[in-house]
Amino acid sequence: MPLLEIRDLTVRFAAGKGEARIIDGLDVRVGQGEMLAIVGESGSGKSVTALSIMGLLPEQARVGRESRILFDGVDLLTLSPAAMRARRGKEIAMIFQDPMSSLDPCYTIGDQLIETLRAHQRVSRAEAWRQAVALLKQVRLAEPERRMKQYPHQLSGGMCQRVMIAMALITHPRLLIADEPTTAVDVTLQAQILALLRELNQQMGITIIMITHDLGVVAELCQRVLVMYAGGCVEYSGVEALFRQPRHPYTLGLMNSRPTLARIGQTLTPIEGNPPDLARRQPGCQFAARCPQAMPVCRHDAPALNPVADDHWTACFLAEKKAP
Ligand code: SF4
Repeated sequence: MPLLEIRDLTVRFAAGKGEARIIDGLDVRVGQGEMLAIVGESGSGKSVTALSIMGLLPEQARVGRESRILFDGVDLLTLSPAAMRARRGKEIAMIFQDPMSSLDPCYTIGDQLIETLRAHQRVSRAEAWRQAVALLKQVRLAEPERRMKQYPHQLSGGMCQRVMIAMALITHPRLLIADEPTTAVDVTLQAQILALLRELNQQMGITIIMITHDLGVVAELCQRVLVMYAGGCVEYSGVEALFRQPRHPYTLGLMNSRPTLARIGQTLTPIEGNPPDLARRQPGCQFAARCPQAMPVCRHDAPALNPVADDHWTACFLAEKKAP
């Protein structure tokens, strides 16, 4: 049984007099100990997927009646707010892109870590302090005892990101969702944070969902990739297969638009056009307006996610033609 299984997830938001279908029938499976990347441009639905798993969608969001988010076999969408809160802190944790906005500026790092720990475990303050310092050491924060007494504004962005990771780990979660955790830090820190996440996955067995728009991060870190476009999955496979032979024109477009060492001196090719307005979805393939290979059928029929090779699925009529 996968640790996390999302079935037919649909999330709608009010938009003017109508509504926008931000997530549109998404299916995801994440095995125990796996590291899955969810990739896509801004507005593709990556972060809304994460917030759905965390039970942190804003009140106006409407989740489809058929939707299921099974964590260890339990449908999180059926839990009471209190039960979800308990599970969220203890078994599922999330780190956000901007650590400064997630830490409380009025409390020291130590107070915030200790309060989080004691909300989930009956331990003395002294024991909570000891565990918090050990965690700060584990996430390689220098001078942890001193940091415990400091406020967030006294730490650099990279240090705050490490504190956020420590905060997420304090209750030993089984699933960690990292939403663009390296976007706000420089390249050196990015490498250190990615190495830390890899260590957490390999040494502690924590299952990780990495949400990113950066295919370089995916190649370096993850075993499996789910590519999202307009709230749906357009490609899903192991990392090697995806980089060796991307089967969806959108995935290919993402790859061609990123700088790599192999392309030094070459012109990058951005994906033309903009993502669709999800409040005014057109029939057919949602990528058709930007797809250089679109065919007449793409404008009225929506391609299903179909297997195109072992352990590799794509939602594109072209890939269906080429499938073995
Ligand atoms: Fe392009 Fe058609 Fe494939 Fe959509 S289904 S990605 S429009 S070729």
